[in-house]
Amino acid sequence: MQYTEIMVRYGELSTKGKNRRSFIMQLAQNVRGALVDFPAIKIHADRDRMHLILNGEDSTQVIPKLSKVFGIQTFSPSIQVAKNPQDLKATTEEIMEAVYTGKETFKITAKRSDHSFEMDSHEIQQFLGNAVVDRFPDIKVQMKRPDINLRVEIRRDGAYLSYETIKGAGGLPVGSSGKGMLMLSGGIDSPVAGYLSMKRGVEIEAVHFASPPYTSDQALQKAKDLTEKLTPYVGSIQFIEVPFTEIQEEIKQHTPQGYWMTLTRRMMLRITDAIREMRHGLVIINGESLGQVASQTLHSMVAINEVTSTPIIRPVATMDKTEIIELAEKIDTFKLAIQPFEDCCTIFAPPQPKTRPKMDKVLELEKRLDIDGLMTRCLAGLKIEAISAAQSETQVEEFADLL
Ligand code: ATP
Ligand code: MG
Repeated sequence: MQYTEIMVRYGELSTKGKNRRSFIMQLAQNVRGALVDFPAIKIHADRDRMHLILNGEDSTQVIPKLSKVFGIQTFSPSIQVAKNPQDLKATTEEIMEAVYTGKETFKITAKRSDHSFEMDSHEIQQFLGNAVVDRFPDIKVQMKRPDINLRVEIRRDGAYLSYETIKGAGGLPVGSSGKGMLMLSGGIDSPVAGYLSMKRGVEIEAVHFASPPYTSDQALQKAKDLTEKLTPYVGSIQFIEVPFTEIQEEIKQHTPQGYWMTLTRRMMLRITDAIREMRHGLVIINGESLGQVASQTLHSMVAINEVTSTPIIRPVATMDKTEIIELAEKIDTFKLAIQPFEDCCTIFAPPQPKTRPKMDKVLELEKRLDIDGLMTRCLAGLKIEAISAAQSETQVEEFADLL
């Protein structure tokens, strides 16, 4: 059956007035971004629903992309029918022929917003219900939770029939909560943290610290590939590569081992915060999970966090590793994340990092470093690129040409 449109029901819309409007506008923009490969689709958004007019685009290809867009509760592909009882009846029968296997219960739910239509919603339900029972005499009508709920909507621009309700991704439209900088390593946790914050409406930019030649090109590529795995939810993500070699060498040269980790993390956070300010972000997001490693004890967190008062969101802080892995599998980042390319923290990891770093000692040791100079040089060397799903596909094709 050829669907002509998809009717989208918004996710949680607790906000009213102007916020509601900007929420809907943001969602429409994100849907447009997710469906760039289907240029014929027209989007009409109103206060209660969004309608995607397919104009011949293939719904079976559109649906998987649409189900990744945050801010959608459910959606229903539907068929437009001429607004008269005969055509409604004919299409109702056609749908039931296709979906009824002899076992299901059914009901018709009609809604009429065009009051000039000759039948009211109750009469439509009676009329079409009778047509179905005439056609399939054994079929059972069930009002509560029927297997098949055939919905009929009579609107000004036409009549629409649908019988499927597909679960959307939930959450809030990405961007509706503002922008945050995601500290993205090559590990399991930070991509999941990025996914979860996007789900709550945060637009993310990925900040990745690389220390060549100690870290490899593969480690950098892995961070980009992980970023790409997060693009279906938004279309494209800015990837910011931070040159971290000089800072790590300086810390290693001038400070005692036990404090390398704390000092390194403090520098990472300072730099991420400076990038956030430059790029008008509001918050920082990371993949810290309580108690996993030395840097993630509460004492360490306090010592590291001391460099900024910017809010830091830690979406996976209280999750168990198994819960994080489950999510990583769901968003398909797990297989990539467990590839064994060392990142900057692993390579400079001291054998015995302090799990309870002392604040006065930290401040004392930092006097040995030219923090301002190190930061200025580091920020001057940032490399920023947009990563999008489409882009990586062309890269693969170019590569195929070379083979
Ligand atoms: P992940 O699985 O995300 O790497 P992890 O459990 O390995 O986390 P750490 O390596 O201690 O934990 O890192 C904690 C957090 O610090 C990461 O989740 C990430 O947000 C940030 N981080 C660590 N290394 C980097 C890096 N090279 N670039 C950017 N952020 C990083
Ligand atoms: Mg890590």
